[in-house]
Amino acid sequence: MSGKITYVTLFADPSIHPKYESALDEVQKELGGVHEMYIGGKPARAERTFKKSSPIDTGLVLGEFQRGGRSAALEAIKAARAAFGSWSRTDYKERAHIIKKAADKIEEDRFRLAAIITLEAGKNRMEAIAEVYEAIEAMRYYSDVIVKEEGYTRKMATVAPGEEPFSVAKPYGVWGVISPFNFPLMLGNGMMHAALLAGNTAVWKPSSDTPWTALEAYSLYEEAGLPPGVLNLVTGPGEEFEEPFALFADGVAFTGSRNVGMSLYRRLASSSPYPKPIVLEMGSKNPVIVSAKADLDKAVEGVVRAAFGASGQKCSAASRVYIANEIRDEFVRRLVERTRSITVGDPREREVFMGPVINQRAVDNFERYTSDARSLGKVLTGGNRVSRLERGFYVEPTIVDGLPEDHYLFKKELFLPFLVLGSFSSLDEALLKANDTEYGLTAGVFSEDEKEVARFMEGIEFGVVYANRKGGATTGAWPSSQSFVGWKASGATGKGVGGPYYLLTYLREQSRTYVR
Ligand code: NAD
Repeated sequence: MSGKITYVTLFADPSIHPKYESALDEVQKELGGVHEMYIGGKPARAERTFKKSSPIDTGLVLGEFQRGGRSAALEAIKAARAAFGSWSRTDYKERAHIIKKAADKIEEDRFRLAAIITLEAGKNRMEAIAEVYEAIEAMRYYSDVIVKEEGYTRKMATVAPGEEPFSVAKPYGVWGVISPFNFPLMLGNGMMHAALLAGNTAVWKPSSDTPWTALEAYSLYEEAGLPPGVLNLVTGPGEEFEEPFALFADGVAFTGSRNVGMSLYRRLASSSPYPKPIVLEMGSKNPVIVSAKADLDKAVEGVVRAAFGASGQKCSAASRVYIANEIRDEFVRRLVERTRSITVGDPREREVFMGPVINQRAVDNFERYTSDARSLGKVLTGGNRVSRLERGFYVEPTIVDGLPEDHYLFKKELFLPFLVLGSFSSLDEALLKANDTEYGLTAGVFSEDEKEVARFMEGIEFGVVYANRKGGATTGAWPSSQSFVGWKASGATGKGVGGPYYLLTYLREQSRTYVR
């Protein structure tokens, strides 16, 4: 399949199941292998390694990965710097051609990559396959954008006789790219290849929960003909990369939690001798407003998908719902009933909707939050670890009601299948409550009244907003369709991933004037 991909084309095809299942069988034969890093086009080892097991079943050891740190980061930056001169001078059309070739390679290997994502991140097959296609779509979209924008070179106005001025976009140099566990392909790959398309070189440090997917992607870029050193892949504990990236890279692109993002931001400001660009995509606390004029079928389905898809571990996950008093009882009854029908289990099985959370720390957090919720509110459904699946990190989709709306569970990003319910008597009140957060990534409304929807769109202070989205009240942005942009504590650039301005975050302007 090539050309435009959408969720609809993706999931209408039943042949994906046997293909995914046979890829999963193949990948499972490779479990336990030793993986290297890649620096300057060559495999590289650190002094120590770490083992990574699957959140599906901790008995499944996925592999042994290099525990790189400062010295790996420095070597990789050096290799990326050596490759920068020739890559930055490579015509943007040629760079786009190579990225598209890498997209084709990823498409050929899509089921293998999806199987690895399931094993590493615990996503069900549909989420995993969708993520691979999302990554492919971003690569093709950005490649088309840079060609359409003619590399962002513009002829400017001549205001003095004989002058011929241009605005030219130039890359910065070497970018450190740091990515989270929850979209192990899409997010690291998205930041990294956008930087490359713009003519930068990169050092990618994926999450230690999901290094395998990134290593697979690396080898596909290599097969696509990316010159050595343009992309370098290092693995190891994140904190060891903060200082070398801040000091020695020319820019840092980060997707992950707010605390880590802000720590990088401060480090760049305090350690670097001059301002360096930083791309930050961080967490959120995403609200949904369900009005008295909502279609409750759409609202229930949209909220359940957004709150519990990928076990609530999406930066776009819905985590608080404000419900109009008039329909509150009916909506809550249906929401709880629908949530109880969710299948939790081994995400390798076709019928499973919700797999595990990522690690023991996430389970511990879940247990702490549910215990705190019980002390002031009521757990309407869920609230427990799934005891029949004790070898993995499984928890129940959980809905909590009756908490004060200024409780920390309404404010803090939990990154779990955990939803709190609030209420309102007017749309303006709902908007005030929805906006009462330091975050600003995604938000949704359900109302069949166009005036209410218009009021929501005008008043909501979030970057990615949806009305009446049954497929996901706040989730499911797709490159080229929904720019994915975090406001306030959710992001730093104001330019969305998968949108028309994203590549500009990796470019700096040079004003050139020729006098003829
Ligand atoms: P995390 O912040 O714990 O880790 C992200 C990455 O940072 C990992 O590679 C980690 O090794 C690295 N890291 C950790 N400490 C570091 C340090 N001191 N210096 C440099 N790097 C460091 O996040 P996570 O748990 O992997 O992912 C979940 C978080 O990511 C959530 O907050 C979620 O909302 C956010 N997220 C945001 C978006 C978005 O687009 N806004 C998308 C996905 C995830």
